[in-house]
Amino acid sequence: MNAALPPGAVIGIVGGGQLGRMSAIAAARLGYRAHILTQEPDGPAAQVAAGLTIGGYDDPAALRAFASEVDVVTFEFENVSVAGLDLLASLRPVRPSGEILQLSQDRLAEKAFLTGAGVPVAPYRAVTSADEAETALAALGGAAILKTTRLGYDGRGQRRVGSPDEARAAFAALEPKPLVAEAVVDFACELSVMVARGVDGSLAVFDTVQNIHTHHILDLTLAPAPVAPAIAASAQALACRIAGALELVGLLGVEMFLAADGTLLVNEIAPRPHNSGHWTMDACPASQFEMHVRAVAGLPLPAARRHSDAVMKNLVGPEAMAGWPEIIATDGLIAHHYGKAEARPGRKLGHVNVLFPRGALPGPAGIAHALGPLGGST
Ligand code: AMP
Repeated sequence: MNAALPPGAVIGIVGGGQLGRMSAIAAARLGYRAHILTQEPDGPAAQVAAGLTIGGYDDPAALRAFASEVDVVTFEFENVSVAGLDLLASLRPVRPSGEILQLSQDRLAEKAFLTGAGVPVAPYRAVTSADEAETALAALGGAAILKTTRLGYDGRGQRRVGSPDEARAAFAALEPKPLVAEAVVDFACELSVMVARGVDGSLAVFDTVQNIHTHHILDLTLAPAPVAPAIAASAQALACRIAGALELVGLLGVEMFLAADGTLLVNEIAPRPHNSGHWTMDACPASQFEMHVRAVAGLPLPAARRHSDAVMKNLVGPEAMAGWPEIIATDGLIAHHYGKAEARPGRKLGHVNVLFPRGALPGPAGIAHALGPLGGST
């Protein structure tokens, strides 16, 4: 199926969180209906979807029922079982492909793929025992980050270790195994790039942005990244190379470290919309969600043009949401609420974009000022 889906067609999205919600809204704007497979009948995506299948991501009956309602399948998260992916692929076009999802589920497979594609990553070792954890630590220079290869996110499933005892203890504590040990990168900053690739292989790459984390959770994205133009262009080129090597159809987020010596190292890829691309919703004519929908639906991809500079700030946990009435009353804050019923600590509940004229992204004090009631915590 390479022809573009006509308006009225149904885009199936596996996953019911905020990325599904914003993808569904983008789909509706283009005349499509979003049908969500989720276990949360009143979750963020379910609230705005045209149709729902309530069920587990690995439940064959639910997957079959879901597939029968949709024209194409995509994802808002990666962790669907191989059997589930195979079943979906036997019933409907799946974009991006199950192979790409599997790669992104496993840090070791991902790093091996990236290395094979000529994309630089931090030195790493596979770790399947406490002894290997100790050897890896020595090989990586006496300090390392041990990570689960699967199911880690927002800093969960990883520990920094600096001694053999710490390496053994971290090996015992981290689950599921196996693990990967990575050299600790002395990074100047963290960058990311969103790139979309269409069914015809055409690419649309958004500007390189800088991401600032607090307690391992994304806090701020600065668009564009305040780095030298050559570095920003190299980061975009790496993202495009990865999308091409994967033969991606869909959207890909590429997280990178800009090392202190000026080199770029890819940390992680995510074949779906990404938190660090939320700035595009208000600073670009076609957002990352529209690009995602267009690529999956077989539509042409417009240029990923940035008409404004932007700062995105995440609204995390009940503390951030307590300020919601003030946020929506503040001129210049473009607020996005995810409709989550429960405001648990550490949960992403919404975000805010602030726009600046192109080329006029201010420094930290100016950003704090522009964020108004949210500026204090940055
Ligand atoms: P990750 O789950 O891989 O995205 O890692 C979460 C955060 O931990 C990153 O955004 C970095 O701030 C930090 N981190 C992860 N891996 C490394 C590394 N190899 N060297 C230094 N910092 C890292």
